[in-house]
Amino acid sequence: MSNPVDIRKRKSAITVDGVYMAYRVGLVETMALQGVNICLREGEFGAIMGPSGCGKSTLLHLMGGLQTPTRGRVIIGDTNLAGVSDARRTEIRRDNIGFVFQRYNLLPTLTAYDNIDLAKEICGKGDKHGFDPKEILSMMGLEHKSHHKPSELSGGEQQRIAIARAIVNRPKILLADEPTGSLDSENSQAVLELLQELNQRYGQTILMITHDSEVAGAAGRIIEMRDGRVLNKVENLFYAVEQKHQH
Ligand code: ADP
Ligand code: MG
Repeated sequence: MSNPVDIRKRKSAITVDGVYMAYRVGLVETMALQGVNICLREGEFGAIMGPSGCGKSTLLHLMGGLQTPTRGRVIIGDTNLAGVSDARRTEIRRDNIGFVFQRYNLLPTLTAYDNIDLAKEICGKGDKHGFDPKEILSMMGLEHKSHHKPSELSGGEQQRIAIARAIVNRPKILLADEPTGSLDSENSQAVLELLQELNQRYGQTILMITHDSEVAGAAGRIIEMRDGRVLNKVENLFYAVEQKHQH
């Protein structure tokens, strides 16, 4: 795997700069994130690891522009998400980010092929952009299941279709929230191998959340979180280097 010196030379795909996130429910305020700095480089496969409730999903949602931080900045490529309109943010998300969740969230009445094809249509960039749904189904080893509906597929197969759907438009960054969280070990392994292949063969930038150290081991870099903070000192170092480049 790449060493930190190599990684630091690459451009930032997403920078998280001094991010805080507070949730308020009635009178109760939860500080889900308390000053997080991360710089995910282009072509990296990172894993965010930490116990339940430490803020992993919140961080991923902020990084993908699904939520806005209480304080701090999220920068995708060169764009500070806080500095653009809602419409532009939606566009940036559509063009740069693919999401995969623990529960595959496929549309139950559509076939595997149509679930992927629909994502292409929603993107609206025409047939030339991204992968052909057939091509991606065979990359996933699922061309023979293209006419199956989600209920006719195993959990691992459904998750591979969900990954196919997330990357069919070739997003710069794939964000995955516990992608193996609902899978048995065999299916889990297949999904991890697929993510590794996407990273190594296509240079796909990936950030994956897990609370399982074995799963995290599939990534090139592990970012450890506790109580809304990143534990690794090196993450702040990466971030400091990124700051220097910005000036
Ligand atoms: P993880 O993904 O690591 O399990 P989360 O980011 O989901 O952690 O949650 C971090 C903290 O924020 C938890 O204490 C959780 O209860 C709280 N939290 C998450 N989402 C919300 C929300 N929508 N409203 C209020 N509190 C929330
Ligand atoms: Mg979570």
